[in-house]
Amino acid sequence: PGDLPVDFDQARDEASALRERIERYRVTYYSEGVSLVSDAEYDVEIHRLEALERAFPELLTQDSPTQQVGAGIVSVGFPSHEHAERMLSLDNVFTIEEFREWADKTRAAAGAPVRWLSELKIDGLAISLAYRDGVLETATTRGDGRVGEDITENVQWIPAIPHRLTGTGFPAFFEVRGEVFLRGEDFEVLNERQHALQAAFAADQIARGRDADSVPTRFPEFANARNTAAGSLRQRAENKSPEQLELMRDRLGRLALYLHGIGAWESPPMRDQSEIYGLLAGWGLPVSPHTRVFDTVDEVVAYIAERGAHRHDVEHEIDGIVVKVDELALHAELGATSRAPRWAIAYKYPPEEVYTRLLDIVVGV
Ligand code: NAD
Repeated sequence: PGDLPVDFDQARDEASALRERIERYRVTYYSEGVSLVSDAEYDVEIHRLEALERAFPELLTQDSPTQQVGAGIVSVGFPSHEHAERMLSLDNVFTIEEFREWADKTRAAAGAPVRWLSELKIDGLAISLAYRDGVLETATTRGDGRVGEDITENVQWIPAIPHRLTGTGFPAFFEVRGEVFLRGEDFEVLNERQHALQAAFAADQIARGRDADSVPTRFPEFANARNTAAGSLRQRAENKSPEQLELMRDRLGRLALYLHGIGAWESPPMRDQSEIYGLLAGWGLPVSPHTRVFDTVDEVVAYIAERGAHRHDVEHEIDGIVVKVDELALHAELGATSRAPRWAIAYKYPPEEVYTRLLDIVVGV
């Protein structure tokens, strides 16, 4: 994060300017699904703030964005719903060295050999599903980790999310957590449709005598799959015409989901999280086909490199690898901070523009 100021006043001023900017990014990102800066730029700023808070602990307060999950706000329009168990974020590392340090520390804290559950980090939107007696009771966004938006109404149009579980043996009540995302091909279809809708709108406006240059953009192009998935999930049915409702349902119907964790669940019947995925799949819940379990950190590091070289060979966008302690008993033992579990970490790949620029420098283009 660069050199840190030695002077407290200077550090305080920089931290307060950073907080103000970061808050603005977060509010638009989490409540409107709009990115004012790239994720990589956001990560640089939040890490700078973390470094300042580490160097000057007086600057660290509970309301700092470094201590929060989400933006701490829930949009108007959806009822709010309190998660039975908190929904956390993940701590990040950006280098293999930092990852190894985390793994060593975690293994030492566990006091026993650890198996590492390694998963693709899906660049989507976190969701929590609560099932009671095998029937979906609520679907909720992460919100601030305690309270999210109740989007159960919208979820009925997403075939990837079962309303009723199949099989037997599910607990009377349990929560599962996962990532809603849009497959690359569906993102393209939706954008083609935006273009077609805009072209039809423009033709109609011109037919009504409007100058071609002054036709407003009614159907803008979607910027990226993640924000489009977020926008699709949080569409409001109110005041929509039948045609608009049809488009809304079509967008919802294209959303996909992979579950990657559990929330409230009294005594899960398995030892490892990877086994839980098998159980969920048996009940008709969607889990990722890409998860792997490794015995050694070296194997995880090789996996991170291998997946990094094939980032686009997957049906969804990935922005890193999530490595988790597989054994559930250790989750309880290792616990969590105010915003993230200590038994998991996200290794984030460098943004691809940086890769490309580095390559350019290396080959001297
Ligand atoms: P995060 O994206 O770093 O990671 C936490 C989330 O990853 C979890 O909540 C979970 O939903 C998700 N996830 C995906 N795959 C997973 C898997 N296999 N296992 C477990 N979890 C998985 O953290 P965040 O708190 O959601 O958001 C912070 C990040 O969002 C930033 O680092 C930045 O990249 C982005 N952001 C960008 C802006 C912007 O303006 N561009 C603003 C705010 C946040």
